[in-house]
Formats: sequence, C-alpha cells, structure tokens
Amino acid sequence: MAKKVQTEQCCSFCGRKQSEVRMMLTGIDGCICDACVEMANNVLLTELKQKGDFKIDAIPKPLEIKEFLDQYVIGQDEAKKYLSVAVYNHYKRITQPKSDENVEIEKSNIILVGRTGTGKTLLARSIAKKLNVPFTIVDATVLTEAGYVGEDIESILTRLLQVADYDVKAAERGIVFIDEIDKIARKGDNPSITRDVSGEGVQQGLLKLLEGSVVNVPPQGGRKHPDQKMIEVNTQNILFICGGAFDGIEKKIAQRLNTNVVGFGVAHERSLIDRDNMLQYIAPQDLKAFGLIPEIVGRLPILTYLNPLDRTALRRILTEPKNSIVKQYTKLFEMDGVKLMITDEVLDFIVDKAIEFKLGARGLRSMTETIMMDAMFEIPSSDTKQLNITLPYAHEKISRFNMCV
Ligand code: ADP
Repeated sequence: MAKKVQTEQCCSFCGRKQSEVRMMLTGIDGCICDACVEMANNVLLTELKQKGDFKIDAIPKPLEIKEFLDQYVIGQDEAKKYLSVAVYNHYKRITQPKSDENVEIEKSNIILVGRTGTGKTLLARSIAKKLNVPFTIVDATVLTEAGYVGEDIESILTRLLQVADYDVKAAERGIVFIDEIDKIARKGDNPSITRDVSGEGVQQGLLKLLEGSVVNVPPQGGRKHPDQKMIEVNTQNILFICGGAFDGIEKKIAQRLNTNVVGFGVAHERSLIDRDNMLQYIAPQDLKAFGLIPEIVGRLPILTYLNPLDRTALRRILTEPKNSIVKQYTKLFEMDGVKLMITDEVLDFIVDKAIEFKLGARGLRSMTETIMMDAMFEIPSSDTKQLNITLPYAHEKISRFNMCV
C-alpha cells in the first residue's frame, strides 16, 4: 500500500515551516505563522493610527457607554450619565471636519466629586476600556510649581504621550484623568501668607492645560531641564476629567444652602435637605470656597458627584461587577481545580466588617483577603476539590485580624 506523504505546512507569507515557528494558523488555501500575524497586526495598528479618523456612527452612544460602565461600577448613575455624555461629545468634537467652521464645539472638561473609595478611579479605569483614544490617569499630588521638589505640570502630558507611543497627533485627542485634584486646592483663604508651591501655583499651571494651548512636554516626564528636547503638544482637544474627595466640602455646601434659603417656607425647604448625602447639592461656588481658583472652576464646567456607598451597594459590589472580588477568588481557586462556595451569611459579614472598620469598598477586598489567605496558601498543595467558606470559618479568620487592628 502506498504510504501517504506527510508534507510539513509552510507559512504562505514568510515560507517558514511549521517546525520553525511557535504556531501555525491554517486557512482555506494557506497558512500563516504567529510571527506574521504579529507583524500584520503592528502594520494594521500603525496604519489605522495614521488615518486616525472615526466614523460618527461607529462612536459608542452615551447609553451604550453607560451600559458598559454598569458592568463594572455599581450605582453612581448620575456620574455615569455625565461621563458618558462627555466622552460621546469628545468623540464628536474630534471627528468634526476641519471644513465645518460654522459652529466650533468646545470641550467640556469634567470634575467628579465623591468620598474616597466610592468609585471615581474605577469609573475612569472602566471607561478607558471602552475608548479607542489614548487615556491616562495621573495623580495631582505629585505636581508642584517649577523649581520645587516634585513634578512639572506638563509631566501630565508625558504620560499621555507614552500611552500614545509618542504619537503626538493621537495624544492631542486623548483623555486625561487627574486624580486627587482637591489636593492642589489653596491651603488658606489668604493666598499670600506663605508660598503655596503645590496649591495655587499648580492650579495656575494646570489652567494653561485645561484652557487649551500649545505646551512643551518633557518626553521622559519629571522636571524640565534646559538641555532636554521638548515635544510640543496642543491641549485644545484633550479632554480632562478631574476627580477628588474634597474632604469637608459638605460644610461649605451646607453653609451655602443655609444662607440661600431665606424667607417664606425656609423650614420646609431645609427639612427637604438630605443631610447624609450633601454632595448631591454641590455647585461650582463650593469648589471655589474649598480652594480651587475661579478660573479652574470655570474650566471644569461639568460638575457631578458620587454617592456614598451604603450597605446594599457594598453587598452588590462584592458579587455583581464583571470582575467582582468574589468572581476573582472563584476564578483563582478554579485554576487549581477547586470549587469555591461562599455562603450569603459570609458575604453579609464581610460587608458589616468593612462598614465597622470604616473602610468602604476598599475594605471589602482586605476583609475577603484576610478570610481567604490561609486557604490560598494551603489549598494548592492539597487534593481538596471544594472549599466551603462558612460563617464560623470567616469569624475565626477575622478574629485574628481584629486583634491586629
Ligand atoms: P476612589 O477613586 O473614589 O477613591 P476607587 O475607584 O479607587 O475609589 O475605589 C476603590 C475600590 O473600591 C475599587 O477598586 C473597587 O473595587 C471598589 N469600588 C468602589 N466603588 C465602587 C462601585 N461603585 N462599584 C464597584 N466597585 C467599587
């Protein structure tokens, strides 16, 4: 009987044999090796980036953006709505043809105010997953005025350039999330008592970026120095989203509400105020009262807030988001061939402890971590197939932690 000759497959692009490559994909009439796939991908990305144009009907609509955010962030509907609209408008602005000079769409930078651990950064990170423009998160606390220890304001744009692979055109249409913007608030009511190098000075510098101007950016970040070659970046189309906890701003809001509500029906109006969530009444003048200069407040026209997380929200955060803590642990154990079962009582207990220790949503992770640590250490070397986390088990693990705090 004639022997069937087995010929080795070759890549139809580079000609390399199957044995010479890591992987070979087979199509109807040919094959392609992993190296060629990678190269083709790079070529494609570069081409698309150079073309850089979006079609208006390909832009995700606000509702679609919000639904995407819903998968990762629990509640905070108001903030999600504002963010979705702002991002959608940002896309529209950058797709506006140059020839269309009748109406120039101006950018609307956003400011998100919410207590720490309520999901500001999470919102920013989640929205980044949906975008196909360069996006970066920077921390305002490291910024100082030129000449002092810290980083120049322009270094914010260095990060954006880095994520855009130093493609200036792409970076100029990107989005920057500036976290902890409240940390650059003016330290006192009188601006000239002492030099405020990380406060008002930084705000003045930031103003230039928010307004839209051409700035010289140090390619490696940090401090600018004279011999360095700078990259010119126009910030006109860069969308800035700022976030901050603004600790104590509730007092300023209350003061304003108290002075505003005068005359007939005062008692009635005051009784309608929800004192547990004062942030929902935030207005631009409160940011000014907190220590942001009026020009900065004016350049952040969209102001929205995040709600404090109550017990129900915390309980949902444990299990519902796409990458919730419980889903992550389940996956981790599944990779060891172990089925993880956590009772509802345990989940309620974790929430109670996070509230008791005033750790908010961040506490959920540390509590779960404490409960799981021993199992995470021991199970991979055992032949356990199922792990049941019960209330007594959780109590025992947490009681040890209680002694440490
Ligand atoms: P912030 O920036 O407001 O201080 P983060 O966004 O960093 O807070 O939140 C800290 C952690 O808490 C997040 O990593 C996330 O796991 C969880 N978290 C906070 N708020 C939410 C929320 N609304 N939905 C889901 N998870 C949340």
